[in-house]
Amino acid sequence: MYKSFLIKYAEIGVKGKNRYIFEDRLCDQIRYALARCEGESVVTKSQGRIYVDFVSEFDFDEVVEQLKTVFGITGICPVVQVEDEGFEKLCEEVVKYLDRVYTDKNISFKVDARRGRKNYPKNSMEINADMGAFVLNAFPTMRVDVHKPDVMLHIEIREKISIYSVILPGPGGLPIGTNGKGMILLSGGIDSPVAGYMIAKRGVRIDAVYFHAPPYTSERAKQKVVDLARILSKYSGPIQLHIINFTDIQLYIYEKCPHDELTIIMRRYMMRIAQELAKESGCLGLITGESIGQVASQTMQSLMATNDVCTLPVYRPLIGFDKQEIIEVSEKIDTYETSILPYEDCCTIFVAKHPVTKPNLNVIRIHEKNLDEKIEELVKTALTTQEVIEITY
Ligand code: ATP
Ligand code: MG
Repeated sequence: MYKSFLIKYAEIGVKGKNRYIFEDRLCDQIRYALARCEGESVVTKSQGRIYVDFVSEFDFDEVVEQLKTVFGITGICPVVQVEDEGFEKLCEEVVKYLDRVYTDKNISFKVDARRGRKNYPKNSMEINADMGAFVLNAFPTMRVDVHKPDVMLHIEIREKISIYSVILPGPGGLPIGTNGKGMILLSGGIDSPVAGYMIAKRGVRIDAVYFHAPPYTSERAKQKVVDLARILSKYSGPIQLHIINFTDIQLYIYEKCPHDELTIIMRRYMMRIAQELAKESGCLGLITGESIGQVASQTMQSLMATNDVCTLPVYRPLIGFDKQEIIEVSEKIDTYETSILPYEDCCTIFVAKHPVTKPNLNVIRIHEKNLDEKIEELVKTALTTQEVIEITY
């Protein structure tokens, strides 16, 4: 019955030139999502509205599911579009529409008409009243409720006329590409994909870096990160995934530094390298899945020690989340099942039995001096031997 969708988006703060950027990015991202569906569609924006029109057969549920991955969409409205063939004919179409959508006719409704073109022979008030009467006449069990109707029947009069009353919720947020790009430190765990999702939701494009430590971490652990990046790219658009071979750096830290400080020093090098990559690729900040107090390396003192090497802002969207809350998001965005696959990530091998929970920044800096001889060279090699994978969904 439907061939088109009207896409609703929040317009708060979207003014002037920004509005076009916002709408254009939203259209791009809708096309990216719909490329995964059967059927051919056309996405157009006109007069402050975005429409998706299908020109071939399509699967309604599949299309709605994909549109729900597009940040910036607040509502997905399946619409019936009809030609303007007079008011009487329009009322008949509306009755046909209501009959199909609402099998239970014991409902209240309100007509909400908008004239996008002023040459229509009736104004909105007249359409509301006359169409309301027509519907009541067709379905005597229905009633009008102008305050809290069960069904808000929207009629939009433009070139064509749109009829809709169902609004399916979108994910909200801002369209990808309206807010610069960030570099996520993506591990195989539960947290970092969720962190990436949350920042992407604010319109930020994502690139990712994974620190791989073969043979201590397996190929399967790496594949898991690739798989997670792929799921994330469903929402964020294409992701450039940098795989950094971290083994020699880790072994060198292991050799030269106190073992209870390994994790912190290692994390400082991850941040330094991520920051290099971020600057090279035009990213405006780093993103991690850290949350205060979750593990020894995420106490306030540890976060301070890690953050110390960063000049770019570090975005930690999960900072105040409990694990259970993070898990709930990961289930919603479909990364959970992949994240809990049991392949070790590179932190689990070099973890000390009793890592410092309150590292002293000055002490860490002094111990890092033990690395002076070779670390610069090792970092350089890690950067020049990186593997880059283009990920799309
Ligand atoms: P996650 O579930 O995201 O792995 P975690 O609870 O295991 O997080 P840590 O291992 O302390 O926590 O990592 C904290 C953050 O550091 C991660 O959320 C991620 O952003 C980053 N990180 C950790 N290990 C790696 C890695 N091997 N490659 C890239 N980023 C990493
Ligand atoms: Mg981890």
